[in-house]
Amino acid sequence: MTATSSSPSDSAGPVAGNAQLPPEFADLPIVASCTDCGACCSRQGAPPDYVALERNLHFRNDPSFADDAERLDQLPDVARELLQLYLDESAAGTRPTDSACVWLDSESLQCRFYEWRPSTCRVFELNSPGCLIYRRLCGIN
Ligand code: SF4
Ligand code: SF4
Repeated sequence: MTATSSSPSDSAGPVAGNAQLPPEFADLPIVASCTDCGACCSRQGAPPDYVALERNLHFRNDPSFADDAERLDQLPDVARELLQLYLDESAAGTRPTDSACVWLDSESLQCRFYEWRPSTCRVFELNSPGCLIYRRLCGIN
């Protein structure tokens, strides 16, 4: 998602500010970068839009998926194999859908194929409500 965008540095979206945030998240600080976080990627299972496209072939007819469909068709082999592994294991019931994204590097907490991340990850904003919700879920301030 998760900036479902754990980024190489601080290249998640612009700071959103927290004026619209639910009060239960008001104590979470505004952060300057995604460094050492990865919370929003830690429960995605796999790049979300590509999973949607693979599971729903008719989405390819939806113009809103055009960019993701084009990227999906050109993925590097390793990225494609990891996506397929997730699809196979989740279909078999052996991988929880809320496990860490298969593209997330567990040591660096960065996306291993950042330049190939799907639309959902591209628009996810640092310090957005979603960012704070994932940080709270993962116990990361
Ligand atoms: S594709 Fe990359 S940015 Fe998106 S959820 Fe997976 S690890 Fe995170
Ligand atoms: S939860 Fe927020 S701070 Fe953490 S990696 Fe995602 S966008 Fe960055």
